[in-house]
Amino acid sequence: MLNWEEGQATQLQEDPAIARAQARLANMDLSEANAEFEGESKARVHVGQKQMINARADLNQLVPFKYDWAWQKYLDGCANHWMPQEVSMSRDIALWNSEDGLSDDERRIVKYSLGYFSSADSLVANNLVLAIYRLITNPECRQYILRQAFEEAIHTHAYQYCVESLRLDEGEIFNMYHEVPSVANKAAWSIAHTRNLSDPTFTTGTPETDQQLLENLIGFYVVTEGIFFYCGFTQILSMGRRNKMMGVSEQFQYILRDESMHLNFGIDMINMIKAENPHLWTPEFQEKARDMIIEGTLLEIAYARDSMPRGVLGMNASMMEEYLKFIANRRAIQIGLKEIWPGMNNPFPWMSEVMDLKKEKNFFETRVIEYQTGGALSWD
Ligand code: FE
Repeated sequence: MLNWEEGQATQLQEDPAIARAQARLANMDLSEANAEFEGESKARVHVGQKQMINARADLNQLVPFKYDWAWQKYLDGCANHWMPQEVSMSRDIALWNSEDGLSDDERRIVKYSLGYFSSADSLVANNLVLAIYRLITNPECRQYILRQAFEEAIHTHAYQYCVESLRLDEGEIFNMYHEVPSVANKAAWSIAHTRNLSDPTFTTGTPETDQQLLENLIGFYVVTEGIFFYCGFTQILSMGRRNKMMGVSEQFQYILRDESMHLNFGIDMINMIKAENPHLWTPEFQEKARDMIIEGTLLEIAYARDSMPRGVLGMNASMMEEYLKFIANRRAIQIGLKEIWPGMNNPFPWMSEVMDLKKEKNFFETRVIEYQTGGALSWD
């Protein structure tokens, strides 16, 4: 070791830890690492080896790409990066604190939305990292899943930021998924669909376990992110359209944009797994998938009734029921099932415009000057 003080290079006695480290590296046993890469998987990867599930190709080699849609979604997700504190909450704080600024029914909607979403985004994040990440054996999909997991963290941050800005009771909001039955039922339904897979000893590779993974993907991407979020999204965005709680509404617009991509990525994964493993998509399994969508829709209708006991913001629970059945039909069709409630119309056509990714630039460009990563946006 050298000592440069006073310009003198002095040899000091070497730390014995360095000699011990050198000895360990010289005798390092590579067999454990090699055991992970048995057979052909130790070679360079070619596209033909790649599969969504149960692949033997080396998962540490991102390229060559097989699923370009997954990589494109990763790039799109990164291009849409945002942070909650970029949204000004000052008008929301003034409105929330003014006695006649909001009706009790409007306040109820804000609290229910923050209460449900704050736990739901945590449940989705936990499912991603503790259950499905290791079971999806494709590196470009995993790359998107890592991006998605961070977006879920940003969403949870956004709810915390709203709660803190409005000085709401943290415990009331974050524990709502235990205390309010219509919220608790949705959370419990999601948790029931991650329980088996989050067991660290769970593996895929049989038709039954592969179907359990598909069931989880349907439970989280199609039902949780694709149905359970839509009453709250519609209510909060409707508030913003009426110039109320514009900051909370803007946070939810960003979240909805991210969630539209999560949903579409999940549907792509489900349909790709089906295409690669058609034996999993049995009539019995299709019936189960359809049942799950119906259960989710009924829970969401109950949530709509509880969060919106009277007409508010130009909507009521019956309109929301029709909207949710319309959404459920779309979800069923998106994964190749027949629609569940024929003849439903969309009572909130403006929601379709918000979700249409081709129009998203128009929707957002009135507020956001430009997207940039690694810094705050300018809002003035
Ligand atoms: Fe999500």
